[in-house]
Formats: sequence, C-alpha cells, structure tokens
Amino acid sequence: MTKISRFETLDVVVTIVPCLEDNYSYLVECTKTGARVVVDPSEAKPIRGVLGDGTLDAIWCTHHHFDHVGGNEALVSGLGIREVLGHESESARIPNFTRGVKHGERFKLGHLDVEILFVPGHTRGAIAYLVSSSATRLLFSGDTLFLAGCGRLFEGTAAMMLESFDRIAACPDDTQIFPGHEYTASNLRFTQSLGFVDTDDALTEVKEKRAHDVPTVPWTLGTDKRLNAFFNVDNAALVSKLGLATSDRATIFGALRKRKDTF
Ligand SMILES: [Zn+2]
Repeated sequence: MTKISRFETLDVVVTIVPCLEDNYSYLVECTKTGARVVVDPSEAKPIRGVLGDGTLDAIWCTHHHFDHVGGNEALVSGLGIREVLGHESESARIPNFTRGVKHGERFKLGHLDVEILFVPGHTRGAIAYLVSSSATRLLFSGDTLFLAGCGRLFEGTAAMMLESFDRIAACPDDTQIFPGHEYTASNLRFTQSLGFVDTDDALTEVKEKRAHDVPTVPWTLGTDKRLNAFFNVDNAALVSKLGLATSDRATIFGALRKRKDTF
C-alpha cells in the first residue's frame, strides 16, 4: 500500500493521498490562510483520515470518472462542503456538482492563484487546476497528463489531446505535476522502449521509491517534457523509431497513444 506523503513549499502544502488501487487524491492547503480543498476524492475514507476534525472549502474535480469523484457524496453530506467544481460540460455526470468552470477562469484559494486549463481528450470536459504564487506552481492534471505518460482517449481524439498537451507545455517548466494515478514506472518503460532519451536514472529513482511504497509524484514539467514521449512528437529520433513518414503532429501523437494502448 502506497504511503501518504506531503509536498511542502513556503505557501502551500499538498498531502498526497493514495486511494483505491493506484489513484491519487490531493489535499491542497494555503499555509497562510488555512484555506483547503481536495482534488479528485476517489473515496471519502482516506480523505477523512487526513482531514482530522477539519473540513474543506471545496472539492475540485478534474473529470467525471468514478475513480475521481467516488468520494464526493459522502464528503459533501458528512462535512457540509458547499462547492464541488468541475467543467460545466460535465455538470450532469459529477456527483454533487455545484459550480461549472471553464478554460482561463481564475480564482483564489486563500492567497494562492488558481487558473483552469481546459484539457479535453481523456474525457470531453477534462480540466486541470494550475495553482500558483510567487514561490509555487502546481498542476493537478487528472488523467490527462501522468508522469511520463498520457491518459487514454476515451471520449476525445488524438488531435484534441495533443492540443491539451500543448496547453500544459506552455506552463512554466518548474511547475510540479500532480497526476491522477501512479503509472510512472510503466510509463517510463514505454519511454525506454522508444530510445529517444536516456531513462536509466529516472527508472532507478522510480523503482527505488516504489520498492518502499513511496509515491513518485510530483516531478516538474521540465523533467516531464524530457521523459514523456507525448511531449516529444517533434523529436526526430522518436518519429523515426515509430517508422512514420509524416511530420503531422496529431498523427504522431495518435500513433504513440495506440502503441501505448498495447504496450
Ligand atoms: Zn479517468
């Protein structure tokens, strides 16, 4: 069982809460004001466990899948949480939904700035939450971006997901990535199989963490751009490895996604 762990900077604390088989929910707290939310509560019990006597200002949902919203009902009824956020297009599929948000929308979590990125592909209404201050940048990327990987295309197209990846790539390279699942080891093996970048050090570190039941998350967007095949559709070595005679980025992205589906 993966251990609960914490990521701390000057102005924010993230508690990484393992849920179900390999999901992560995140408790995000502004240290100056105590304002706090949970991202993607897969189930209520582990969240209640880390909350103690306190409550939450809101639940932030990245998309409607059950393993990301399964704890909504029990948390809302048990703690009286007033806000459950998600993309407006998924309002009917997210339990206890109260507030639709859209791309580019900005609001505050205590002293922290929050911006919504619309990142469809895994679902048609998937969003990511970018939390930032002068000292901190964190991205809660759901099942769109995993460390070294990409979510499955359940509802969207490769072109749509590529656009979402391009949107995320525009964030600062020091942004810490907090994805919806612990898939890093298998994603890195996929990268290794493509041979466009040296994965030895990263694989060693990830295996070491997993051997001790420690989460591999987060790492930075800069690291991910180097190790994630899906950020490398313009990499000539990768494209030639795929045996594709095209420079069409969406075609390359789609071919990568297909290859990973059966990896
Ligand atoms: Zn999902």
